Amino acid sequence: MAARAWNLSVRIETAARVDADTLGTLTRQGPVIVATSLDAARTLLRDPSLTWDSGRTALIDLALRTRRGDAFAVSDLDAPGWIERFTAQDRTLAPAGQQLVQGQFPLAPGESRAIGIARAEELLDLGHPGWRERTVWRREALASGRTGAVDRPGTTWRDRPAIDRGNGIYLAGDQVAAPGLLSEVSFNSGIEAALLALKASESRNTARTSTAGLDLKQG
Ligand SMILES: Cc1cc2nc3c(=O)[nH]c(=O)nc-3n(C[C@H](O)[C@H](O)[C@H](O)COP(=O)(O)OP(=O)(O)OC[C@H]3O[C@@H](n4cnc5c(N)ncnc54)[C@H](O)[C@@H]3O)c2cc1C
Repeated sequence: MAARAWNLSVRIETAARVDADTLGTLTRQGPVIVATSLDAARTLLRDPSLTWDSGRTALIDLALRTRRGDAFAVSDLDAPGWIERFTAQDRTLAPAGQQLVQGQFPLAPGESRAIGIARAEELLDLGHPGWRERTVWRREALASGRTGAVDRPGTTWRDRPAIDRGNGIYLAGDQVAAPGLLSEVSFNSGIEAALLALKASESRNTARTSTAGLDLKQG
């Protein structure tokens, strides 16, 4: 994908943070698409209206010694929770003889990460017998605002912050006004933002050409 972009004259710069001042300079040069999280976009664009609900999720990652019969996926039907053995699809994710198991446990507002991890351990007890003794490596985390947009009852994706922010600035991301689920929202808003930016760029160039034509006539 990087090679294809390069051949289309796209220049990619990584590990470079953009700040609000740099963004201001860029917008004077042409249309800009801000494709960060909504929180980061709020700071970059100094626009406090850029907010939308998202979820909080406790995460657990495990490397377990292989046991025949371990489930591929375990879904909690009593509370939200999901555990998946990713080495079932791709063996290279863990060393030989081990399995990569990852779990996600959505948390209610105010619930702690520890509560989510306790639910994860209960589900592991049910779905992966002997997992505690078989654990070779373990990691836990809390993903806050990282699982896309949550639309409250009575709202839809159309009510989220609009892609077109005016003055040649466009937003892409998983919490902006575009349809889809999770990262699909980022893809869909990215495509829409690119189309709008190209359109703005074309009208800018047409306006410049017409002004140049006018100058020539007057000259
Ligand atoms: C546990 C978990 C499981 C998930 N599972 C799925 C799934 O199965 N399917 C699915 O579709 N989605 C899933 N998601 C959601 C998915 O990860 C997100 O929707 C997706 O990553 C959003 O992509 P994005 O490009 O919009 O934003 P991000 O991936 O957040 O990328 C934004 C980038 O902007 C950069 N950035 C921020 N500020 C600046 C700055 N000032 N200058 C330069 N760069 C900056 C950040 O470093 C980051 O790299 C999951 C999320 C979690 C947490």
